[in-house]
Amino acid sequence: MKEKLFAAIDENYEEMVSLRRHLHENPELSFHEVETPKLIANYHRQLGHEVRENVGGRGVVALLKGKKPGKTVALRADFDALPIQDEKDVSYRSKVPGVMHACGHDGHTASLIGLAKALNSLKDELSGTIVFIHQHAEELAPGGAIAMIEDRCLEGVDYIFGTHLWATEPLGKIQYKTGPIMAAADRFEITIQGQGGHGAKPHETKDSIVIGAQTVLALQQIVSRRVSPMDAAVISVGSFEAKNAFNVIADSVKIIGTARSFNEKVQTLLEREIKRVVEGVCLSGDVTGTVDYQRGYPALVNHHDEAVQVARLAKETPGVIEVEDMVPQMGGEDFSYYLQNVKGAFFFTGAKNPAWEKAYPHHHPKFDIDEKSLLISARLLGELALYYSNEK
Ligand code: MN
Repeated sequence: MKEKLFAAIDENYEEMVSLRRHLHENPELSFHEVETPKLIANYHRQLGHEVRENVGGRGVVALLKGKKPGKTVALRADFDALPIQDEKDVSYRSKVPGVMHACGHDGHTASLIGLAKALNSLKDELSGTIVFIHQHAEELAPGGAIAMIEDRCLEGVDYIFGTHLWATEPLGKIQYKTGPIMAAADRFEITIQGQGGHGAKPHETKDSIVIGAQTVLALQQIVSRRVSPMDAAVISVGSFEAKNAFNVIADSVKIIGTARSFNEKVQTLLEREIKRVVEGVCLSGDVTGTVDYQRGYPALVNHHDEAVQVARLAKETPGVIEVEDMVPQMGGEDFSYYLQNVKGAFFFTGAKNPAWEKAYPHHHPKFDIDEKSLLISARLLGELALYYSNEK
């Protein structure tokens, strides 16, 4: 069965590549996807799959029912692009000014459709149901996943798997991890309201820059003094804004940053302690401090047995050269919501062409992938679908 699946995927390779390039030329921004979901729905409809459109907004869910009884396995691919100008010199460069598939979601989509077609050709031998979840808006909070789940995309689903093509890791490498694999990525905005005035008369003002600077320093002690040394966390200030003249004391300061963690306990601690630090420092300086803390996607936590199974199957997947138990990434992903609801795992599929001297990172204007990675992600997701749909 596996060998037949691999052969069927290989047969679809050219179509996968041309679909990926079509999507690459015609990228659509998060929450503004129109043609992409239409095209995806048409592919599945042509295959005779049960298709539901506008799921949770702009998502597409397609069902392939096997002829034998079995479990229901969902496979997810996201399809949104980014507000970046494509600077690559290739035939399939983006035709939309300022918009680009700079994270490989075009590849995720083409790979999953190629796999869907391959699995469909085996449906007489297939057990259970395969659910193809094509998700809009991964790149922009609140993301498409949570809305698609609220719109019942996980109804009846026993397991879910997904992958991210990763352009800075070599083709043939699969990275997996049990437990937390990607971080909760939160945003905070602190406003310190003092009282501006003449630089020569500081005693008649409430200097928001001095208090702001103290706040930034005090924030550094949260991770070092409040978070357990056995837990990972980051607080980074990315913006400190207080515009004024050389001889004027600023009236107010705005501080913007990100807080990252791998579990809810630490996430809650970071939020509480940031608010406490701002309150305390501002009290000492007799100024007003407010904190707007926005939670982003929760940490992506793989289920243990399913992540182990990803590694086990990856070792048998044609084209896979290395399977790495990876160090968790501090980036965020809304695949986390699916794993809060059903068992499953997320993994990374290397997509750096061996001939490239260097690969441009994700979200870079020259970002690209080795399209052979589409085959590898389709094979491994396909193996997971066969394995878990056959489970008794
Ligand atoms: Mn991405």
